[in-house]
Amino acid sequence: MSEIAHKAGFVNIIGKPNVGKSTLMNALTGEQLSIITSKAQTTRHRIMGILSGEDFQIIYSDTPGILKPIYELHKVMMGYVESALEDADIILFVVEVGEKYDEEMPLLQRLAHTQTPLFVVLNKIDKSQQEEVVAKMAYWQEKLNPKEVIPVSALEKFNTERVLDLILQNLPEHPAYFEKDEMTDRTERFFASEIIREKIFLNYSQEIPYASDVVIILFQESGTLIRIAAEILVERDSQKGILIGKGGKMLKKVGTDARKDMEAFFGKKVFLEQFVKVEPNWRNQKLKLERLGYGA
Ligand code: GDP
Ligand code: MG
Repeated sequence: MSEIAHKAGFVNIIGKPNVGKSTLMNALTGEQLSIITSKAQTTRHRIMGILSGEDFQIIYSDTPGILKPIYELHKVMMGYVESALEDADIILFVVEVGEKYDEEMPLLQRLAHTQTPLFVVLNKIDKSQQEEVVAKMAYWQEKLNPKEVIPVSALEKFNTERVLDLILQNLPEHPAYFEKDEMTDRTERFFASEIIREKIFLNYSQEIPYASDVVIILFQESGTLIRIAAEILVERDSQKGILIGKGGKMLKKVGTDARKDMEAFFGKKVFLEQFVKVEPNWRNQKLKLERLGYGA
């Protein structure tokens, strides 16, 4: 009698903003671990979702979108993309049918030559014609020579089991890296701040979401209640005004929406306080970025 070998490894999900990386990871783990909104670039961090079975453990990380470094913040984010390529056992490169790629993009060169098992996940096929899908599959097969191009709809969970099957087939033999009941390496504080950031993305247009960030300054559990205090950082007084809104109406909505999600996520009653603080140029200040948890 031989035992079935245990498999474990890191699966890194990369791709442009808004192609559906977070939706795919959530479909694959069955948990709402990362923020999903219709705006690009909400995922600034690498987030791990862990899916464990009796004889396997898949550790997913959902990386920020692939961006040109405009601000310091973007450089830090590109660092995450680079490290996502380096420490992967399997790479899922997510693309969508309608999108155009710059053929000279350094990332594509890197992907074409990677030794790591590479799968191209062609997402959002629910929105496209079959001929388009077939043409795009051929294009990516030719361009990057991946192990397979997998057409899926992450949103409708169509063909996502194929992705899971291929991951399991290609996962290296390795003992589990984390306790089997551990869902994620992120702290509860992190999820609290991500939930507030999501509500900011959903409630304000263009400028505000990109000019703001959230720091959890208090996270205190007692019995069935969690007290959470959050500082929302913006760059200018004018943004503070917009964020708070007339008579505090807008900020109140963010708080109410966030509190509901937090209560569902933590399974406890939440008492949430929010403070808005002006910190000019927070994104260009590396020390501050590190304090916010973007450091190495
Ligand atoms: P990310 O920036 O790559 O992480 O993308 P998200 O997962 O946040 O998704 C961006 C947007 O695309 C959201 O509005 C999703 O609902 C939508 N989306 C994701 N997957 C699909 C899909 O398979 N079909 C369609 N029609 N929309 C999708
Ligand atoms: Mg995302």
